[in-house]
Amino acid sequence: METRIHVAVVGAGAFGGWTALRLLERGARVTLVDAWGPGNSRSSSGGETRVMRGTYGPDQPYTVMAARALKLWAKYERKWKRHLLHRSGVLWMASGRDDAFERASVHMLAAAGIKCQELSPRQMSKRCPQINFEGIEWGIFEPECGYLDSRASCAAVVEAFLLAGGQYRQVAVIVPDQASHDENFLRNNRGIVLSDGSRLAADRYVFACGPWMGTLFPHTIGSLIRATKQDVFFFGHGSRDSLKFTDAYLPVWADHCGSFRYGIPGDGCRGFKVADDTRGPDFDPTSGERTVDPETLSEIREYVSFRFPALRDAPVVETRVCQYEQTPDNHFIIDRLPTNENVWLIGGGSGHGFKHGPAIGEMMADLILKDREPKAIWRLDRFKGN
Ligand SMILES: Cc1cc2nc3c(=O)[nH]c(=O)nc-3n(C[C@H](O)[C@H](O)[C@H](O)COP(=O)(O)OP(=O)(O)OC[C@H]3O[C@@H](n4cnc5c(N)ncnc54)[C@H](O)[C@@H]3O)c2cc1C
Repeated sequence: METRIHVAVVGAGAFGGWTALRLLERGARVTLVDAWGPGNSRSSSGGETRVMRGTYGPDQPYTVMAARALKLWAKYERKWKRHLLHRSGVLWMASGRDDAFERASVHMLAAAGIKCQELSPRQMSKRCPQINFEGIEWGIFEPECGYLDSRASCAAVVEAFLLAGGQYRQVAVIVPDQASHDENFLRNNRGIVLSDGSRLAADRYVFACGPWMGTLFPHTIGSLIRATKQDVFFFGHGSRDSLKFTDAYLPVWADHCGSFRYGIPGDGCRGFKVADDTRGPDFDPTSGERTVDPETLSEIREYVSFRFPALRDAPVVETRVCQYEQTPDNHFIIDRLPTNENVWLIGGGSGHGFKHGPAIGEMMADLILKDREPKAIWRLDRFKGN
């Protein structure tokens, strides 16, 4: 007779995939479902790469979480014999005028055991002559961080999940009619209705549906997770550039001088990836057309010409539109559904969730299997009275 607890996980992105895998490794029976597949083009985990960093400013749980995630990424890379975390280093550029975020980060990094060096503009210029450091007073370099293969990691997690005996189905959970949707569609425990007409009943449910969380849970989540349109650009450097723009020569960089921009030089063969972290307009993750805004392109072009002068005339060789799953305070949402103790909600990555996938999976397995409480910073009741 089956005695293992059965958990249904909805969503095979960075949060749901790792949660499903870790639950399975801890002895649960797990069914994972996703409407369009792990790391699909609509999901927030889609695309080729994500930054892995520990620089996060003061008073937050994410530097420690990133330190744990770094260890776990390395563990799974060894286990799977796959290279998913590219340790090209991360250079965080700070302006002298407003660097409280970076000052606090240095202490947080040291306390969490993530290696970092403080660099002067001279040291940075020597290391990265491709960058014009005008307006930058100092920088943080994280040598053991870099970037992750995002889409490939999601697929690798599901592959490992299947090999370990998990059940994965590419089907959608049908959202009940919005008008009468009281979120109690699990109350009678007849299970959730799937797009192939079947039902999936389990002892516990985890919903990790990224930017779709508000649609599935209009009362509990609603606009607490907002999907914002984020345009991403890939510039093509010349084939004979003496100044190199690949990760063999340049680390991942983040520019906190004015608007926060970041880039990943080594994005496969896609080009020099650049994006602005400013939250874009609301976006429909299902039906939104994924074309970039010409205004964003001209701002990014101007920025690239200034900060990376050799790329002044570099053509855009690819673009991508993704969406953040933004919460009002940038913190994740990790909690039970107030009306159903056996339903967990995880999401609200807010533009920084991907790197933490394995650490979140580990934490979720503990919360669910040991019936523990999440940290206050992630609980839903923090929004009460807002
Ligand atoms: C442009 C961009 C840059 C980013 N940069 C970074 C970065 O550098 N570093 C970093 O750490 N993070 C970064 N992030 C954030 C990070 O990628 C996200 O926080 C993270 O991937 C969210 O994962 P998720 O599993 O919550 O959501 P998703 O990846 O969106 O997964 C949700 C899944 O649920 C499925 N689903 C939805 N509804 C249903 C349904 N009804 N039934 C079945 N399945 C359903 C979807 O198909 C999807 O696969 C970035 C995000 C974007 C968009």
